[in-house]
Order: sequence, then C-alpha cells, then structure tokens
Amino acid sequence: MNDEFKAKMKQRLFDLKAEVLTSLIAENNDFRAAVEDSGVNDLADMASNDIDAMTLEALGAKDKLRLQRIESALARIENGKFGICASCGSRIQKERLNAIPYSVLCVSCQSTSERHRAY
Ligand SMILES: [Zn+2]
Repeated sequence: MNDEFKAKMKQRLFDLKAEVLTSLIAENNDFRAAVEDSGVNDLADMASNDIDAMTLEALGAKDKLRLQRIESALARIENGKFGICASCGSRIQKERLNAIPYSVLCVSCQSTSERHRAY
C-alpha cells in the first residue's frame, strides 16, 4: 500500500466522518447548539479533531458504531495496520477499501463472520 492510497483513504474517512457529524447536527438540536457554542464552524476542522465524549453521547447506536469504525481506521493508518485484515492478517483488497474505507476484515473473513452471526 503506497502513501498516495493511504492519503486518499484518510481523506475519504474524514469525509465520512463529516457526513456523520452533518446528519447529527441536522437531527440533534442539543448537539447543534453545542457545536455553535464551541465556535467550530468548519465541519472539516471538526472531523479532523478527535471526537469528544459529548459527540459520542449525542450519537445513536448505529452512527456511534460507524464513527468508531472510522476513528479506528484513521488510527490504523497512523500505526501502519490499515488495510490488514484483523482476523487473518492478510491484505484487504483495494477495491474493498475503496468501497468501505473502514473495513477491518478481508472479504473471506467478512463472509465467514456473517455466516456465524446469530441474527
Ligand atoms: Zn481475513
């Protein structure tokens, strides 16, 4: 994986994060007020900062999970583990990362875990 691809993925992840934050601001009045109070008016700025406890609290379970996945993908870019399957350690396909930049499993591990899922 080259730096160019990593930089592209990082940008995609920031975009996704801004997307989650945008919908949160649209849906949650308390959160919107808090953002306005904090003086942050650029979502891109906000997305590049660490998400604080307040933000996590305002998120629904589904968005929280998504945001956590995005955060951990960004952390994996930093520590060099991005694009490595968390289960088998093989490389995650580029096409898969392009589709879902926060994938942690390769295609074959993902389909195994889906088959074993209880619901
Ligand atoms: Zn795997």
